[in-house]
Amino acid sequence: MTIDAVELREIRLPLISPFETSGWKEEEKTCIIASLEEGSDIGYGECAVSQGPWYGPETLTTAWHIMEEHILPKILGKDFDNPQAFLSAVSHIRGHNMTKAAFEMALWDLLAKKKKTSLSRMLGGTGTKIQSGVSVGLQKSINELVEVVGEYVKQGYLRVKLKIKPGWDTKQVGAVRKQFPSLRLMADANGAYSPEKKDELVQLDQFGLMMIEQPFAWDDMVEHAILQSMIRTPVCLDESVSSLNDMKTALALQSCRVLNIKPARVGGLTVSKKIHDLCLSKKMPVWCGGLLETGIGRAHNVALASLAGFVLPGDISASNRYFKQDIVNPEFTLNNDGTLDVPQKKGIGVEVLADRLEENTKVKKRFRV
Ligand SMILES: [Mg+2]
Repeated sequence: MTIDAVELREIRLPLISPFETSGWKEEEKTCIIASLEEGSDIGYGECAVSQGPWYGPETLTTAWHIMEEHILPKILGKDFDNPQAFLSAVSHIRGHNMTKAAFEMALWDLLAKKKKTSLSRMLGGTGTKIQSGVSVGLQKSINELVEVVGEYVKQGYLRVKLKIKPGWDTKQVGAVRKQFPSLRLMADANGAYSPEKKDELVQLDQFGLMMIEQPFAWDDMVEHAILQSMIRTPVCLDESVSSLNDMKTALALQSCRVLNIKPARVGGLTVSKKIHDLCLSKKMPVWCGGLLETGIGRAHNVALASLAGFVLPGDISASNRYFKQDIVNPEFTLNNDGTLDVPQKKGIGVEVLADRLEENTKVKKRFRV
């Protein structure tokens, strides 16, 4: 299959409400949508970068640079029969996982469309529904936090994740736990705690959380292992695992008992699947996180989450959790049982709306052979 044309679009999509974590605040959704074309078929992938290097080291600017200068010459007019071949073609580029992931996922979509099969099926997915959870950013007050959580519980989400940071943890989590005693609840610090603040994390052990996600720095597997040995609550890694080798390290050090897999973070679906398979073989539960993706990235995440090892509800919420209107049809909607349907049509299984894409495009560039 030869890539005839590539289109890159920088997207700005308004968020219903700002999303704040321990380290940054997003007022709008930014990303680069990469599309790969062969004949009349188009595969779509999302590069889930922010304007700044907050979640990870990449930005809109670095991603566009790596795409245009270093990846495009390796793919335009070239033949790819499988996504691994793409990864081999760009293996000389170190890091830049989110940038690579955009093309790698677009290629999965394109290949699935060519084979007239759904992305989920092509990945080996077995589920037709995935369990949906929601991530709640930092709020202005405890009352507002409890209110926001209550709203999501009413909507039917199966688990709620609270963003925490030093000074916004025990009291806040305790208040939510008191109001919702049986809610499947967890906390995510995005690496905001220093090892000296371990006591505050140990305090969280009393709330029966499903897990505490990434309390320490993204490059610190050792402190996570020490904390895990001190608490009953499972530690979950996110930012610390950006490759299969990282996962091997985490397993060897016993740094976590749960993993959050984000295709964007690990360079796409191929590596996600390898990490999933490794975790499944070690009986470690995984779930699929997100980076406020548009319907395109969301569709890829849903397909991945249909694999057998994704036994916990993830961060994949309905489109209307983030956007007034998504850029795909149909949008992702929450079923009464707190699940999202896995699209069964070919490729990502949702139609990308050309006018919605165009309306929200800030910069675009097209490349032909
Ligand atoms: Mg996280």
